[in-house]
Amino acid sequence: MNNITTSADLCSFIEKSPTQFHAVRNMENELLSAGFEKLDEKKRWNIRRGGSYFVTRNSSAIIAFRLNENEEGFSIVSAHTDSPAFKVKTNPEVTASGLYTELNTEVYGGLLMAPWFDRPLSIAGRVFVKNGDEIEERLVDFNRPLALIPNLAIHMNRKVNEGVSYSAQSDMLPLFAERIEKGRFRKALAEVAGCDEENLLEYELYLYPKTPYAFWGLDNEFFSSPKIDDLMCAYTAMKALINSKGDKYSPIVALFDNEETGSGTKQGALSDFLPETMKRLLNILGCDEEEKIMKKASSFMISADNCHALHPNYQNKCDITNKPRMNDGVAIKFSAAQKYTTDAGSASFLRTLMDRNNIPYQYFANHSDIPGGSTLGNLSAQKLSIPTVDIGAAQLSMHSPYETAGTRDTEALSKLFNVFLSR
Ligand code: ZN
Repeated sequence: MNNITTSADLCSFIEKSPTQFHAVRNMENELLSAGFEKLDEKKRWNIRRGGSYFVTRNSSAIIAFRLNENEEGFSIVSAHTDSPAFKVKTNPEVTASGLYTELNTEVYGGLLMAPWFDRPLSIAGRVFVKNGDEIEERLVDFNRPLALIPNLAIHMNRKVNEGVSYSAQSDMLPLFAERIEKGRFRKALAEVAGCDEENLLEYELYLYPKTPYAFWGLDNEFFSSPKIDDLMCAYTAMKALINSKGDKYSPIVALFDNEETGSGTKQGALSDFLPETMKRLLNILGCDEEEKIMKKASSFMISADNCHALHPNYQNKCDITNKPRMNDGVAIKFSAAQKYTTDAGSASFLRTLMDRNNIPYQYFANHSDIPGGSTLGNLSAQKLSIPTVDIGAAQLSMHSPYETAGTRDTEALSKLFNVFLSR
């Protein structure tokens, strides 16, 4: 039997983190109880060497760091907090033939639609509430099966198993209630938010599956859960930062939002969040301009985002010589177009680190006729240009509401982040 402790810890974190806002809030709580201090971008920072800190932006991106005494540069891990999902639109209630009430939704990120059918779904996110003269942000989670997107019976589309295309606007709306009077959704939302309806301002809400995570396979070698991409990397990196004990390199974990829509937001990997945070802390610590350049040049980043394992039923979609497999270790990702930042130098550095610490690794490259998805590293490099390597665990069903990965790979990622952030 495989040791599932690390993966079980990850799965229970994901279970209580149905949106990026919840993931960041739960990480804040773990960081606070580990003695990290919260900084506010809007206020002066009182930081010193030897201290551990974190700062959030938009409540959906977080940068946490320790400032080591003999710092020559930074060891940075980046990952993302968001996952593709259906987002509830404003004015959400839709009546179907006057008989049922559905919710109007739109697609966030590049999701696989079919696996959203016939699953109990709940709704979570954040709301803003008027509280006197203040506007207060609150996280909300209905935390119970509340909606479902019903499939069309095969009798009404005999060709369904030969392939079907879905309209996000007409085929994918979740059934939410019987015929109800308009405004019930807002009423229910105000109740979950703990406020009067007239004080409820705006919301960002996502559907999420209420399917519980599972360990499976003859030896429990696989696990399935929502949001494995990319909370598997994000959470193991944050845990490694909490346990880090380095000296020469100050460890940073930077988790961005909106990777699934191209990273181009104020809280995304293309934003100034990480470069401004680093500039700010180096200024406060009294580094001169040349020292800042030296420290940046001595830094190294691991851009951590999962990749595709060879699919046993679609083997020809995989590269012909680099065939990553779940449970064969950390996948180092290469792309000639530099969609992944890995170069021979950064890969050699990482390999050596993993060889020395007995961390299993393998290689990932896209099939040359099938362009893969984008990730964080090449985007954040436009703002913070330091040697970077792209890695991730090899998983199946990426961007399904229920993804699959290997239990031993959680261990491998965790071990890598532990040694890298403790340099
Ligand atoms: Zn990802």
